Formats: sequence, C-alpha cells, structure tokens
Amino acid sequence: YMDTLLKDYFGLFPVKIEKLNGYDNINYLVKSHKNSYILKTYSNITLAPLLEAETETLIYLYSNKSFNSPKPIKLLDGSYFKKIIYNKNEIIIRLLSYVEGTFIGDLNSSEQITNSLGVLLAKLNLKLQSWNNAVIKSRDSEWNLDSYSICKEYISQIKNSKDRALVEYFFQQYEFEVIPISRRLRKSIIHNDANEWNLLVQNDSVNGIIDFGDISYSHLINELAIAIVYNSYRESDYLLWAEKLIAAYNSIIPLEEIELKVLYYKISLRLCISACNSAKAKNINPENIYMVHSESKIWKMLREWIKISPYKAENHFRKVCGYKEIKQVTISSLISRRKNIFSSNFSLSYNSPIYFKKAAFQYMYDEQGNTFLDAYNNIPHVGHCHPKTIIKGQNQISKLNTNTRYLYDSLYNYSEKLLARFPKSLNKVFFVNSGSEASDLAIRIAKWYTKKNKLMVVEKGYHGHTQIGIEISDYKFNNPKGIGQQEHIIKVPLPDQENIIKSNIEIINGFDDQLKANENQIALFISETILGCAGQIPLPENYLKNIYSKIRNQGGLCIADEVQTGFGRTGNHFWAFEDQGVVPDIVILGKPMANGHPMGAVITSDKISDSFSKGVEFFSSFGGNPVSCEIASSVLDIIDEEELQFNSKEVGDYYKKTLKQLKQDSQYIGKITGQGLFLGIEIVKNNTEANPDLAQKIKNSLRNKFILVGTDGEFNNVIKTKPPLCFNKHNVDQVISRLYEIIKTI
Ligand code: PMP
Repeated sequence: YMDTLLKDYFGLFPVKIEKLNGYDNINYLVKSHKNSYILKTYSNITLAPLLEAETETLIYLYSNKSFNSPKPIKLLDGSYFKKIIYNKNEIIIRLLSYVEGTFIGDLNSSEQITNSLGVLLAKLNLKLQSWNNAVIKSRDSEWNLDSYSICKEYISQIKNSKDRALVEYFFQQYEFEVIPISRRLRKSIIHNDANEWNLLVQNDSVNGIIDFGDISYSHLINELAIAIVYNSYRESDYLLWAEKLIAAYNSIIPLEEIELKVLYYKISLRLCISACNSAKAKNINPENIYMVHSESKIWKMLREWIKISPYKAENHFRKVCGYKEIKQVTISSLISRRKNIFSSNFSLSYNSPIYFKKAAFQYMYDEQGNTFLDAYNNIPHVGHCHPKTIIKGQNQISKLNTNTRYLYDSLYNYSEKLLARFPKSLNKVFFVNSGSEASDLAIRIAKWYTKKNKLMVVEKGYHGHTQIGIEISDYKFNNPKGIGQQEHIIKVPLPDQENIIKSNIEIINGFDDQLKANENQIALFISETILGCAGQIPLPENYLKNIYSKIRNQGGLCIADEVQTGFGRTGNHFWAFEDQGVVPDIVILGKPMANGHPMGAVITSDKISDSFSKGVEFFSSFGGNPVSCEIASSVLDIIDEEELQFNSKEVGDYYKKTLKQLKQDSQYIGKITGQGLFLGIEIVKNNTEANPDLAQKIKNSLRNKFILVGTDGEFNNVIKTKPPLCFNKHNVDQVISRLYEIIKTI
C-alpha cells in the first residue's frame, strides 16, 4: 500500500520502505533510486496546524547552509501535507528529505561531538531567534519546560515513592528558584528536543538535526539544558560534559548570567519531565520502548544530579562563560559576627565551621559549592526540605495559623493519626514546641499526678535545656561546669556495655537500694531507650520492664523520652520503648516530629491527663498550631509511603555490619552501638581506652571529606551517626570508605 501511496501522492517509485519507530507517530524510511526520504504519518489529525507551522519552520531553516535539517517535499498537488483515508481512518501524510549521518546515540561521546553539537545548536538558535510563528508560540506541550505543570500531574504515575519525592523536590525547587525570575529569561522558538537520536554526525562532527515535532516557544536556555541532559547522561561526570557543551554554545551565543543561574534547575527540570512522561507512557503502553529507552539513564542522572550543589554548578557554568565566580562570604567574618551577638556557649561544629545555604534529603550544600553527606542530623527525619513537608507547611500558613483555643481540622487529623501509632492506653496528647518543653511538661504532669517530688533519672541522660530539663539531665548537671545533682534527683547508673547481663543485675540491685532509700517519694522515672548523648548506649534487654514495675509499685510514673529515637528511627518498631516490651505512662516527642519545624508533644493516658486537667489551664501559644500539625502529619505519611522505618532497619543493619567489619581492621574502633539509623562508633586506643582526640580528628577529617557526623559520650569519644531516614546503602558505603581512608593514615 505504501508503494501506491508514495506513487499516487508524491510521484515516487520507492525501491525500499522501512518502518521506523516514532514517539507518537509512525515513520518510514523510503529509498528511491536517487534519494532517501522520511515519510511521516500521523493518526492524530488535529496536529494539522502544528504540522503546517513545523513545515514553515523547516522551509525557513533549510535555506541555512551551516547545518543540515530535513527539507519538506511537496506532494504532487503542491501541498506539503495531506489528510488521506488509510485503513478506514483519516491520517495525515508528509514527506521530508533524509538527513545523512550517524546518530550521536550510536557513537561514543567525544569532545569533538560535544563541541560541534554546542555550535550547531547555537547556530540553530541564532537562526530561530528571528523566526516567528503564532501556532508554535501558542503551543502548550508536555515536553516544553515552560509548561512543566502538565508533567507535575504525572508524578503520581511514578511507581517508587522515593523517586516521586525526588521529582517533586526538583519541581518545587524550580518554582522557588526559577519561576520568580523567569520573566527575565530570553525567549525564542527552539527545537526543544536535542537528544542523541535527533542529531547526526558526519566526519566526527554533529552537522544535522532532525525531528522538529517538539518545537516550542520557550526560554532560550531550555535548548541547551535539554541538550546537556542527553549529552551528559551517557557519561558519568555529568557536570564536566555540561561545561563542555556550554562552552561551545557560548562561543556562538554568549549566555547571560541569569541563564547560568537557572541552568542547574532547568537541567533537573528536563530530567523530571522526561521521568514523568516515561512513567505516563509506560502506564498507557508498557511496551513503548521508544519512550522508555532513555529512562534508566534519566533516573541515574537525576539521582546523581541532586548530589551536585547548585552553587557549584552555577560557578562552574559562569567560569566556562567567562564570568567571575560569585563572591563568597569569608567564614571568619561570619564567626566574628557570631561572637558579637551570641554568648560563647553557643557551640559551633568543626575546626573549620561550615556555612550552609541549602539542603536536599541526605545532602547539604555549603556556600562554596560543596555537597555534604549528612550522616548526622536526625531532625530532618524524612530528609532535608522534603517537598511534601514544604508544600503542606506552605499551604497551611497561607490559609490559617492559629492556636488550640479554636477549632480547626489539622489539629484533630494529626492528633488522631499520631495517637494511632501508640498503644491504646496512650490516648491523649499535649502539643508543645520542643523536646525540652515536652520533658518539662511531662515532669509537671507526673508530679501533679503522683503528688510526689523525687525524680529518677539515668546517668548520662539528656532531656532538655529548661530548668527542669537540666535538673533531670545528668549529661548537663554533672558536667564540670554544671549545676550539680539537686536533692530531689535520684540517679541510676548507666548500664555497663561490657557485660550487659551482669551489669543488668548489678544495676537493678543498685536501683533497689535507691528505691528503698526513697520509698514512695519517687514521682517518676525518665529514660531514653538508647541514650543518645551518652554515646548511643542502648539499655539492656528487660531493663525498662524491671524498672517500670518497681517504680509503679511505689506509686511513680514511667516516662519514655522518644525525642531522638522515635518515629521509626531504630528500625524494629515505631517507638524504641517497644523494643523493651513496655508501655510507658508518658512519652515525650520532639526533634523529628515535624522534620525540623519546631514541635514537641507529650503523650499520656486518659487517667493521667484527667488528673492534670484538674489543675490550671494548659496552653501553649504555638503548640499544636495548624502549620505544625500539617507538617507533622506529612512526616507520618512520608514515613509510611517511603517505608522509612523499614529503610532504617535495613540500611541500619547494613551500616552496623559494615562498621563491625571495619572494626576488624582497626585497633582504633571500639564498640559499635545502637540500632537502625541511630548508631555509635566508639573510638579507642589500645583497643579499649577512650580516645577523644582521635574521635575529634576523625570527625573533622570526615568533615573535610564532606561527611557530617558528631561526637558525644562520657569521654566524647563516640562518633554518632543518625542520618535522615532516606539514607541508603550507597551512602553507608561512602561513609565507610572515607572512614577507612582516615583510619588507614593514623
Ligand atoms: N530529649 C532528648 C533525648 C534529646 O536528645 C533532646 C535534644 N538533644 C531533648 C530531649 C531536648 O530537645 P530540644 O533540644 O528540642 O529541646
């Protein structure tokens, strides 16, 4: 049939016809004795106005001599395309000249290809800058970066929730960083799809461009951003290949500073658009190989792109184009400003402090363009700047922010969702603004309920910075500069990790003596399940079970501090106390609750809260406000959707296992403590002796290798690692290999 079609409509007598795969149409390679052509057929006849516009553009471009592009071939009736009936359906046909050459996609990357590609695109863009077409200008397409909101609707079609979050993150950052300045970006009609299968190479140089089906009116810089994706994603050093292409393009069309400012985000946007369109296409037709052939490379680049700091990218791009690097603030000036306004007991991490500007999931970007792997901060629990937490907070703050004296949905919705995570008996919640405030309130509630005054705490525990917080925190009051142990505080020793079973008995014995001495005067016992500030020290099995029953027998309450360990961090359970098989009377929450937005809570039973309600009104101006509740609610959703508790268990187990392997090779590594993504690495000398100097050295060396950890413990010799729960096994490998490099040189 094609033979007759070509003869009847074009007067061609083909010797060979070969069907080609197209994205949304069917093409044929047609060979006659003299020439080769591409016959294009379209089942979507509404494309007619666009095909006309594309044809006009191709005719306009064909006059150009500096690169090859398809020439539209007239039908016998003088038109450039025609609606015909094919298989009882109306289709459009048209014919284009065949552009000779080898696809970039069939060749290895090279400097020459990249250079000539940049030059060709710039020449094409120069020519198109004086091209105007109303149909193209009014076109809204899912491949146009400036119409990216079409693709935002496809995010839900991406199967993996972590991948969805990554795409959402980049869309959101685009909206923060680019949209506000986008009207200042140059616009033009652009080809809009400079991928490796649309560009042709002859004599090692790119000299042909085909497929103008995505032609759009768009920011000029989008042309380059798109080309960068497809030129870089074949390689591993994405930034380097981007720079090469930018340099070549810039030699013909000098780029503006604002274009270089947005380019990092434009590249990420194209990656996201491609990821969304692939997800959609796969859902519609799982066999559409044309669509998904680039998918794995797109995802690989997207996952790597987030590890490149936008500040680094911008400065590299500027350098390539001959602009000065953006001037950086000197760290020493920031430190002296700090000294002017803060007390010197505000500590600052590292010998060489870090000036952070931005963060994404487990990565943090400093002003100098470095990307740090965050193996330390547990507050951004579901990942720094998780797009879902941001959008929820933004939406709510733009609608209503008020306090618990009024009625509003988010308070109920969140409270019910949160309480559902607790054992049934814990069914009342009080909202505050920090872990300290939560422990302070918990102590007040317990004292009120029991009408007792003595508070039992565990050695090296930390519960907060308020007056009560310090009084119950051995970590603070027992510091050489601390206030010392108050009369009403009873302290039980931290279980000895050397011999947990033996020490367990000893501690319980020691505990019994303390209990006897203060019989019926103890209002409460408060403890973490894994003591963070003590150096990630877990309580021995059954420890809490034993103590809780004794405390309760003498009329006291048991408080679990889940400020550090809650929300799935320790892997086995949502709350660390569950590992001990106990149900506390009161639980305090903080840090990760709203992913860095200040929020804390006290959870207790009906009976205890009823008793507290006989006292003065409880009110916290900010506690439980709608914005905090919305953000906190998104944290719970993300933990579920992204299976972060499971991730914590799986990655945490792997982390602990690899750390233990490292210990085999090093006399400087002592015990590896903790569980899930809440681990401690003891640094020792002579195999057992605490080695705080080395711990500091390792912490600072890791910082110089762009990995964040902390130190803590009685001798400040425990390296603490408690990263955002999106931390993955590759991240673990990164930490381990850097640690190995450091330890090797000691
Ligand atoms: N409890 C524990 C176990 C903590 O680690 C902390 C903070 N390090 C707090 C309570 C106090 O929380 P915040 O700093 O939010 O007041």
